[in-house]
Amino acid sequence: MASFRVCVLTLFPDMFPGPLGYSLAGKALEAGIWSLKTVNIRHYARNQHVDNAPFGGGPGMVMRADVIDAALRENRESWLPFVYMTPRGQALTQEDAWALARIGGVCILCGRFEGVDQRVLDKHGANELSIGDYILSGGELAALVLLDSIIRLIPGVIKSMESLQEESFSRGLLEYHQYTRPRVWSDRAVPGVLVSGHHKRVKEWRRIQSEVITRERRPDLWHRYAVAMADGQGGIVEQQ
Ligand code: SAH
Repeated sequence: MASFRVCVLTLFPDMFPGPLGYSLAGKALEAGIWSLKTVNIRHYARNQHVDNAPFGGGPGMVMRADVIDAALRENRESWLPFVYMTPRGQALTQEDAWALARIGGVCILCGRFEGVDQRVLDKHGANELSIGDYILSGGELAALVLLDSIIRLIPGVIKSMESLQEESFSRGLLEYHQYTRPRVWSDRAVPGVLVSGHHKRVKEWRRIQSEVITRERRPDLWHRYAVAMADGQGGIVEQQ
């Protein structure tokens, strides 16, 4: 059995795996490290519409509770967490990605139109997640973003677990600047410490860079980090 099981309910199943069929995620899908089941919500509409006008009036259409309920009941394995992508949800974080990766699977509902009848979300205990404060035309791209953030954390997808520990958010900080060859490019030299061969000094330089960049760019993250450090915790995002 795959280490991570994905079930996606959508009106556009052909959008999956989409970008997740490429590169590391694509190879891992082929290798069976994660599995993907797409469910076309339209198949559960029988002779009805998938959507209807909202009660109370207003623009647009709302996806029907009975149609989505039928799709969920037939396809969701009961242990899978149920996630609805919506701009009204909690903002997706790296912690969420780690938590879902550890659980071992997810069932995602992609909305369209004005969204989904609230009753089916309540009945199935939906976890509502947003990928940012803007409106997309459908939940499919949001689901792909969520899945990408999870899949790269599954053991065996990325060879070096070290790279997961170093990257932005892993210790509650943004990542330091990165450089590669050539040493001097367009009259700009790589910071000397990085080519000094002193591993301890490189580590220290990177830590300071991370702190400076986080303080400048993301005062919100910096504040959380500073509080966690004062409490004696080394980092914020728990791993493994
Ligand atoms: N009327 C809704 C927006 C509907 S957008 C509102 O004002 O809140 C149509 C669908 O796109 C949503 O049902 C949701 O599944 C998806 N979507 C749009 N923006 C999103 C975002 N920022 N994060 C996650 N999903 C989003």
